[in-house]
Amino acid sequence: MTSSSNDRLAILGGTPVRPAGPPDWPMPDDDVRLALEEAYRGGSWGKYHGEYVERLEQELGRYHGCEFALTCSSGTFAVELAMRAVKVTSGDEVILAAYDYGGDFLSVLAVGAFPVLVDVDRDNWNMSPAALEAAIGPKTRAIIVSHLHGGVVPMSQVMEIARRRGVAVIEDAAQMPGAHIEGRRAGTWGDVGTLSFGGSKLLTAGRGGAIVTGSREIHHRARLVCQRSSNPFPLSELQAAVLLPQLAKLDIHNDRRAVSVARLLSSLGDLPGLCPLTNATNAVRWLGPSRRSPGHGIEDSATATLPGYYKLGLQYDPAAIAGLSRDRFVETIRAEGIALDTGFRALHVGRSPSRFRAVGELAEAERAHHAMVVLHHPVLLGSEADIDQVAEACRKVYASCREIDRAI
Ligand SMILES: *Cc1c(COP(=O)(O)O)cnc(C)c1O
Repeated sequence: MTSSSNDRLAILGGTPVRPAGPPDWPMPDDDVRLALEEAYRGGSWGKYHGEYVERLEQELGRYHGCEFALTCSSGTFAVELAMRAVKVTSGDEVILAAYDYGGDFLSVLAVGAFPVLVDVDRDNWNMSPAALEAAIGPKTRAIIVSHLHGGVVPMSQVMEIARRRGVAVIEDAAQMPGAHIEGRRAGTWGDVGTLSFGGSKLLTAGRGGAIVTGSREIHHRARLVCQRSSNPFPLSELQAAVLLPQLAKLDIHNDRRAVSVARLLSSLGDLPGLCPLTNATNAVRWLGPSRRSPGHGIEDSATATLPGYYKLGLQYDPAAIAGLSRDRFVETIRAEGIALDTGFRALHVGRSPSRFRAVGELAEAERAHHAMVVLHHPVLLGSEADIDQVAEACRKVYASCREIDRAI
């Protein structure tokens, strides 16, 4: 901004960088409107069964290169369904990262199993395969692996360990539908992958979820879990109808988000104390839209990783910003109209130690708990000017950080 009145932080009474606030989600979409009208005309809006759920399951399978997909009522339930389908039962242990979605932890408890928490990687704050092996014991039945905030877990290493030790892998791709991890779609490395269609997610029907798997047996058991004469955990025809056009555009939208992230990170590059989660897996780089054929993933690399961005995670260091606390930094940026937020609470923080077993110190998960900041995705489908406003808001806060604690 050039005008000096805009140098004043919004939290101190100045004009916000984005006075209208962050873009709304979901965004208006004519294809979704047409799908709703079609579902209305065909009567499927009010039916138990119709063409849409079946078509969506076929399309999800085709998109992921998996033989089977099964929709359900939420991403949280998809994780529970996946556990039941790989026969996690009471008394079993399930390993997950100590920095993860709280619902995954609670789903482990919901099936009567016991959560075992491992630390996250220092540079990307997602599950560290190095921590995994030591956590596996005679009671371990499954590992839940989530790819979070633009960081991905090196799945080839996870699968090598899991196969050798005879443990099932549930790959939670709720934050990364359509991402590529070491050459494969997120969710297709594990024995079963899970997706969310919740209201804030990249594919949204307000609510909803799915599992994908190459195993006929897992698919069959999951279907049995959902059959009680009727299905008590369904995705509706209307939800499936609005998801189909979104799935058709997912690769194009993921490409746009990746371009926006690259632009943002390069303009944040010289700000200390805001460090993107980094991925150590093979060929972790953006190949560019021209190198990719929509719907068919990456043409020219069998091992490339292209993360997805439901959230863009950054490691925040208050020492680089005059000691400004993470929470105060987030609050200040939000006042500028940018959808920045704190990350998850670490799963071991504030919970009774009788509810889980911790493997090691969980020091990095603890750091992530205190220092993760995440940018919400809708702005990533905006213009270059929208992206530049995010960087501008950060610069504005850096420039005035010494005034914030004094004034509030
Ligand atoms: C959002 C999310 C879920 C669950 O999604 P819902 O559909 O809201 O239940 C599961 N795992 C992760 C990592 C998520 O971000």
